[in-house]
Amino acid sequence: MIDSHCHLEQNAYANDLDQVIEKCKKEDLKAIVSVCADPKDFDRSLEIIENYKNYVFLCASIHPEFIKEISSKQVDEYFERLKETRKKLVGIGETGADYFWVKEENWREKQKELFIQHIELSKELRLPLVIHSRDAWEDILKILEQEDAKNVLLHMWGSKESEHLKRIVENNYSVTIGPIIARSKNHKRIVRDIPLENIMLETDSPWFGQNGEKGLPTNVKIPCVEIAEVKKLDVNYVADMTEKNTIKFFSLEI
Ligand SMILES: [Zn+2]
Repeated sequence: MIDSHCHLEQNAYANDLDQVIEKCKKEDLKAIVSVCADPKDFDRSLEIIENYKNYVFLCASIHPEFIKEISSKQVDEYFERLKETRKKLVGIGETGADYFWVKEENWREKQKELFIQHIELSKELRLPLVIHSRDAWEDILKILEQEDAKNVLLHMWGSKESEHLKRIVENNYSVTIGPIIARSKNHKRIVRDIPLENIMLETDSPWFGQNGEKGLPTNVKIPCVEIAEVKKLDVNYVADMTEKNTIKFFSLEI
């Protein structure tokens, strides 16, 4: 198994990251993709991939939630850093839009502009895209299609529209499925309707912990078991296949 989306640079792991990584290795996780979504976390993120070489891999971007706090000068400077450190990255993301947290039309427009800048960066650097799309489902798909984005991974996709699912399959986009599937009929339906070749496991740790605890990458077991149940497949087969999907998608060198 691989956790294809979590945030190891978060303060929640400031004191126990060594133990967390040990536990992941013990519980058979082959790799972890950590997502840095804030320029101020980038140095710490680089330190982490240096410390756990060929085990923790890094995606980087500016999260759409931070749209009101970031200036265009900061965007430019950060993008320059990402270009300089291209060799250390496996993807651009999470980028996209978040209409749950951002309600004002002008700020939503700004999110879309920043999203398009990220798509352009991913093309320039030849890196895959990891997308955050909370409540912005239609706009996200429209922009991805307009911009002709290829290697696309939709994180926490939650639209209830069947038409959206059809477009995801037609465009050959992938999705990551997290522990939320255990209590979500909608996520079970998404898994049912998307081919296994386009599904990966995630936890979004340290969020989505179980029983009030902080989340851990080892929780990928939860979506793995649920996917096996929905698709009536052996759980080991799902673990293997999703692992292969992640390695291929991000070209991981493990
Ligand atoms: Zn995330």
